[in-house]
Amino acid sequence: MQKIPASDLYYPNNLSHIFLLSIEDVIGENGVKAILNSAGLSELIGNYPPYNTENEFDFSKFSMIIGTLDELYGKKGSKVLSMRAGNALFAEMLKVLGEPEDIHGPEFQSKPLAEKIHTGLSVARRTFSKTKTEPIPQMDDGSFYYSVKYCPVCWGRTTDSPDCFLVSGMLQAAVRWSTGGMEFPVTQKTAHSCGDATCDFIIPVKPG
Ligand SMILES: [Zn+2]
Repeated sequence: MQKIPASDLYYPNNLSHIFLLSIEDVIGENGVKAILNSAGLSELIGNYPPYNTENEFDFSKFSMIIGTLDELYGKKGSKVLSMRAGNALFAEMLKVLGEPEDIHGPEFQSKPLAEKIHTGLSVARRTFSKTKTEPIPQMDDGSFYYSVKYCPVCWGRTTDSPDCFLVSGMLQAAVRWSTGGMEFPVTQKTAHSCGDATCDFIIPVKPG
């Protein structure tokens, strides 16, 4: 994996720790060791970032880990693993930080499906990007348009298609959580690594 220069953009330590655990969930501890060695990040082996909210984990490290996953497992293998890791990322987040909203009470349960989807996406955005507070826009057909301005997954890399599957998997898990187990196929439309300004994802309001 080619070294990506430091970005000066940082991810919180606790979420970076959770990110590494989510990769471990899908390829095991030895798999992560191989990735970290190959990514030139061996200092992280047995030394994950501490569970605090300091912003200290450079985006370049995040992206090099995913880039190495691509190199070691191939595009197809990496897609499957990244989707699963994204799902694990959300699940680990719930386990470590607790449920950020009460989705089990009768008030939430009686909300329309689109509102439940919006809650899941808002929680994902609030937790993992901490940048915006306005509602997530909907397209003419009702689908949600989730845009990531600073994406740690593809930071500093070039890809020939939008491949930020870790984000797609995380969004899939967030919406599954907020809708009580429904599946929505998330598709990625644009990526910073393809020369676009943002990494954008479409989440339909009809389960697939
Ligand atoms: Zn991206």
